[in-house]
Amino acid sequence: MTEATEPDKTQVYLVPVAHLELADEPEYVHLSLYSWNERTDAWLTQTGICGRSTTQGALPEGTEVTCPGCLKWRPAYDQTVAGHNHRRELESEARRQQAMAEDTTENGAWHTVWLESKWRWITSRMTTPQREYAADCVAAYSRYLATCDGELERDEPEGLRWWRADQ
Ligand SMILES: [Zn+2]
Repeated sequence: MTEATEPDKTQVYLVPVAHLELADEPEYVHLSLYSWNERTDAWLTQTGICGRSTTQGALPEGTEVTCPGCLKWRPAYDQTVAGHNHRRELESEARRQQAMAEDTTENGAWHTVWLESKWRWITSRMTTPQREYAADCVAAYSRYLATCDGELERDEPEGLRWWRADQ
């Protein structure tokens, strides 16, 4: 991670963190895992990889890590983090490829129907299996568009399957 690049929310990083502001706390710079937390919608650090509690928040990149415990564990954590990040990259790539495969003429056509016409009226003239199928096409094309926009987590369009809500 560098200043110039936004951290990737699917990845985990090892970052320098400050010791707790306590009188008996050794004045070390520790290393901590740094990851995106969905619940708090923020990047969070954890305890040092040596096991000591630390002050929340990453220190500037390049800050020298001085805790002997953290330095000892660093190679093992580097490996674990790299393995984790590699798996997440493969997952992202698989999702992206799947989404790209959803760029079909049929999905695009149904997406235009959804976007430009009276979806509720048109689908009310269909059987439920038929409109579920049409909605699947719209959702698939919508996933493709979201992937193009770099928003992998976007939900399917609201009201797409209005008939489910009425049940
Ligand atoms: Zn430490």
